[in-house]
Amino acid sequence: MSEVTMDKIVSLCRRRGFIFQSSEIYGGLNGAYDYGPLGVQLKNNIRDLWWKEMTQLHDSIVGLDASILMHPRVWEASGHVSNFTDPMVDCKQCKSRFRADQVDLNGPCPVCGSKGTFTAPRNFNLMFATHIGPDVDAASTIYLRPETAQGIYTEFKNVVQSSRVKIPFGIAQVGKSFRNEITTKNFIFRSCEFEQMEMQFFCKPGTDEKWFPYWREQRMNFYINKLGIIPEHLRWHQHGPDELAFYAKDAYDIQFLFPMGWQELEGIHSRTDYDLTQHQKFSGKDLTYLDPETNEKYIPYVVETSAGLTRNVLMALSDAYDEEQLEDGDVRTVLHFHPSVAPITVAVLPLVKKDGIGEYADKLEHELREDFATFFDQSGAIGRRYRRMDEIGTPYCVTVDYDTLKDHTVTLRFRDSMQQVRVPVSELVSEIRKATKEYKRV
Ligand code: ATP
Repeated sequence: MSEVTMDKIVSLCRRRGFIFQSSEIYGGLNGAYDYGPLGVQLKNNIRDLWWKEMTQLHDSIVGLDASILMHPRVWEASGHVSNFTDPMVDCKQCKSRFRADQVDLNGPCPVCGSKGTFTAPRNFNLMFATHIGPDVDAASTIYLRPETAQGIYTEFKNVVQSSRVKIPFGIAQVGKSFRNEITTKNFIFRSCEFEQMEMQFFCKPGTDEKWFPYWREQRMNFYINKLGIIPEHLRWHQHGPDELAFYAKDAYDIQFLFPMGWQELEGIHSRTDYDLTQHQKFSGKDLTYLDPETNEKYIPYVVETSAGLTRNVLMALSDAYDEEQLEDGDVRTVLHFHPSVAPITVAVLPLVKKDGIGEYADKLEHELREDFATFFDQSGAIGRRYRRMDEIGTPYCVTVDYDTLKDHTVTLRFRDSMQQVRVPVSELVSEIRKATKEYKRV
């Protein structure tokens, strides 16, 4: 195992087409990133696994895709207009800007080293404001959503009335969120435009005591069992009284050991009836729930699971990254992605192009497309082609050679162990499925 640094991850991402700085040809835009051919596939795979986990594998969780632009009153009700601020300070000497809670205000400036030069902290609202319609004035001001959750609360009543869901039930949503972050270092860890995967679970007041530990366990299991994250790289952080929102009963973060240290990946929050009560107050609409069996009327309590999808991408990359010293003296860079997360599942590699081997491999790759994300590569020495696939985390390589033409068998190579087995073409799909199901990172 080698040391995983952010520089190595950033460089691999750029070199192999996972992630690029936004608007690079114009000098780049801070806090914004573009997901390249492999990055978008990796992100979609994580998103799809989360979506399946929530809406397919759990009882009573339905999906939603709310709009990014919402009525400005939403953000007054949620508290974002008045409270969604970070304290900001500037160094008077070098003009660098920091979050006041992230620097020692009595110490030297982390950039230029001068002492006692910080401005007094002032609050800065993280919401991006824009205008709707042709007039640019206070009345037309709206915000890009800083979280997806509020769209779930505002549609709570519509979902109850249209979907025949009964409490307890959840609403899941994946989408873009925007925050005008003061410091956007550490690559995609904290960006101004990012994606979240959030689920609000509505339950009867009192039963939240049962659902809160349930969802904590579910979420940790998801990372270990479905994304294949190394358990030692994950831990819990319970919010202390100074971190807990005034309305929250309890809150835990799942933290991951990123290259820069332990940091939040997902929050699991017991939010009481705060959000729906606020929206009821601000909208004047009845947001209570009527229990069809007992006729009880109440505003449900909410247990929220709130994860960053783009932050999950950084976790998947950092957790998977390795540089291995091989016996022949070579170092191989490899991403040990779980096979269901890897952007490409199977690479088909003809040993040589000639004598019908290239055509055979090409046909085989087309057949495998029905079942897997595939890639065809016939250029360069076979060893170099394996290395290229290792570096982007492709778990299986299939090599077509002269014997294939005779007996319709191929070599199946496993990324982690680099072991090779001979498999009949007719059994390839089931072999790969089996290996994926039984995958364990060693
Ligand atoms: P922080 O205190 O680090 O700013 P937060 O506690 O405000 O984050 P939440 O509002 O709970 O974060 O957001 C839920 C999840 O959304 C976070 O766990 C994180 O994964 C993701 N997230 C939040 N802000 C960003 C961002 N600027 N860039 C990328 N992901 C983010």
